[in-house]
Amino acid sequence: MRLKHVKGAEEAIEQSGFVVQEPRELRGSWRRDGRPLCIEIGMGKGSFITGMAAAHPETDYIGIEKFSSVLIKAVKKQQELALPNLRLLRMDAEELLTAFAPGEADTIYLNFSDPWPKERHAKRRLTSPQFLEKYKSILTEGGWVEFKTDNMPLFEYSVSSFEESGWKLMYVTRDLHADPVLSAGNIMTEYEERFSAKGNPIAKLAAVPGLRGSD
Ligand code: SAM
Repeated sequence: MRLKHVKGAEEAIEQSGFVVQEPRELRGSWRRDGRPLCIEIGMGKGSFITGMAAAHPETDYIGIEKFSSVLIKAVKKQQELALPNLRLLRMDAEELLTAFAPGEADTIYLNFSDPWPKERHAKRRLTSPQFLEKYKSILTEGGWVEFKTDNMPLFEYSVSSFEESGWKLMYVTRDLHADPVLSAGNIMTEYEERFSAKGNPIAKLAAVPGLRGSD
């Protein structure tokens, strides 16, 4: 993703009541009244997470984005929608364990994650074994990760990464939009809208961690 400096983004984010400014302070207490808690990592401009929060008011959502220049777009969407079940964070996924305690999240969504095609950057892929270890730690027992992309080399890498890290794949499709069951209720991301309009098939997987303590 090309990043442009967005004037005033930092200040607007700091002043927004929809952005959790100090996520570390909520570590261990994100869940509200026993409601399900779902996180999107690398949410971009926030179409998916705002769509999910609007469609599922019984569930709480947290949208995480690394860059202010991108996060500000999601903040603006949320300022218009004021969804009570959506909180936004500016955070690098590397710091996930500083903000979330073990077993806090029911579902983690990764959508069109940056591919980092060079082998020497493989650890930066959000589906690398290093990141899967972090997700495993913060997921509840029975929690899962969902991952969508149109980038097939990244998708095949990710399938192997989940399998080799001991995760169980619940389903895998290499053409989500052609699958009436798996695409039911699908909320499109910005990248999904863009790349499916060009005719690219969208791949998706869902995976649950292996048993804790078994590896
Ligand atoms: N998920 C959106 C979509 O599908 O339209 C955006 C996809 S964009 C290719 C990937 C996004 O992930 C970018 O906004 C990028 O800044 C963010 N990102 C990449 N690495 C990240 C990390 N380590 N932590 C948090 N966000 C990250």
